[in-house]
Amino acid sequence: MDIVLTGTGSPLPDADRAGPSTLVKAGDTHILVDAGRGVVMRMAGAGSGPDLLAGVLITHLHSDHICALNDVITTHWIRTREEKVLQIYGPIGTARFVERQIHALEDDIGYRIDHHDPLTKGPQVEVTELEPGDAFSLGDVSITTAATMHAPVRPTIGFRLEHDGTSAALVGDTIPCDGVDELAAGADVYVQTVLRRDIVELLPGEMAQDILEYHSGVIEAAQTAARVGAKRLALTHMVPAPTPDQYPEWVARAAEHFDGDVIIGDDLTTITI
Ligand SMILES: [Zn+2]
Ligand SMILES: [Zn+2]
Repeated sequence: MDIVLTGTGSPLPDADRAGPSTLVKAGDTHILVDAGRGVVMRMAGAGSGPDLLAGVLITHLHSDHICALNDVITTHWIRTREEKVLQIYGPIGTARFVERQIHALEDDIGYRIDHHDPLTKGPQVEVTELEPGDAFSLGDVSITTAATMHAPVRPTIGFRLEHDGTSAALVGDTIPCDGVDELAAGADVYVQTVLRRDIVELLPGEMAQDILEYHSGVIEAAQTAARVGAKRLALTHMVPAPTPDQYPEWVARAAEHFDGDVIIGDDLTTITI
């Protein structure tokens, strides 16, 4: 599998980092996890696109993780001309969010159907709401879910994808918890959204301090990776976003607690397992 960090950014706007999303390519099966700002551009950079997706997996309904889902839905619709249903999986609440997205797009959907004869109906989207512990397959990729902890955001879930003897855990925003341990156990790569606790603690303002409560720090992610025997730890959604010359410092902090490879990078960094 190729794990492409299509968006390594966070809610904080960044000229060089798209919002949170990760693309998994398992042979011809392409699966997107979350759909943050700029995701369709980055998918193009990764040699993919919404029309090629076997499914979209959503970890939670925070806007930074879903704000470009409308672009995924519209681009899928136009590129497939209704011949393929876009499959979206996410926690309870995902169906309502998608329904509202399509409602917001109604004028555009009407313009395009009026203008283009091949289009006779709107986007074909099917949403499956998941409970922790649910398991399913997309192509020959097996997917399991577990509950994560990102309170007060509820419910939140993470995913483990397995293909051809390899495994990847993509857990979204969460503090360390049993669900993450379960998903990342022995994984070839464990992808964790992280912040630098030591830096964020110095930032002014109550809102900056609030985010410490519900995210993993780099050290906690490394401790989780070590505890569950993950082979590689990939950091994403870094807050605050590091410049490339700061990457070694981030990796060194993790390496104090985890012996495996620690991966940090720009958008489109690809991990092959
Ligand atoms: Zn979040
Ligand atoms: Zn987030």
